[in-house]
Amino acid sequence: MDNQEPRAPVYLREAQIWQRVSEMAATISRDFAGTTPHFVAVLNGAFVFMADLVRRVELPLTLDFMAVSSYQGTESSGEVELIKDLSHPIGGRDVIIVEDIVDTGITLEYLLDYLQARKPATLRVAALLSKPSRRQRNVPIDYLGFEIANAYVYGYGLDCDQLDRNLPYITSLPE
Ligand code: IMP
Repeated sequence: MDNQEPRAPVYLREAQIWQRVSEMAATISRDFAGTTPHFVAVLNGAFVFMADLVRRVELPLTLDFMAVSSYQGTESSGEVELIKDLSHPIGGRDVIIVEDIVDTGITLEYLLDYLQARKPATLRVAALLSKPSRRQRNVPIDYLGFEIANAYVYGYGLDCDQLDRNLPYITSLPE
């Protein structure tokens, strides 16, 4: 939290995000030492997190992007639609899903099932944000940036009606 934005219940400064993403990258670098992990980011929201995370992972790595849709405006539709499939096979690979935020968990559950069916050697999840109070599915998060309160957040890749993905910090709609 930051006093510069008293009306906003969630406010993560650029430096805070940088610090946490660096710690996550260091942990992943240790856990995957000796391997070449394959990072799969979920578009659109995870594109900034993915770019920052992989640039701080000190390992040879490959990456890919998927796109799914479950949100219309600021409300979840509850149904996940695959918009862009993987461009590279993941069989036998050490795969890390890179998600912007886990809210109900419905999207992540879909992705875990979808990717597990393609028989990776291992499948892990890195999520920048999690709203545990909103969870409807019991999904694992192996590497988590921040637990946050139940608020609609945007910036740092996350959108507010498609806008504000370019903000370098994360803030939320006033309640
Ligand atoms: P879930 O399926 O409810 O867990 O939602 C996951 C997806 O919904 C995330 O990958 C985001 O794209 C989007 N989402 C959920 N909460 C927020 C939010 O507060 N701001 C922006 N996008 C969100």
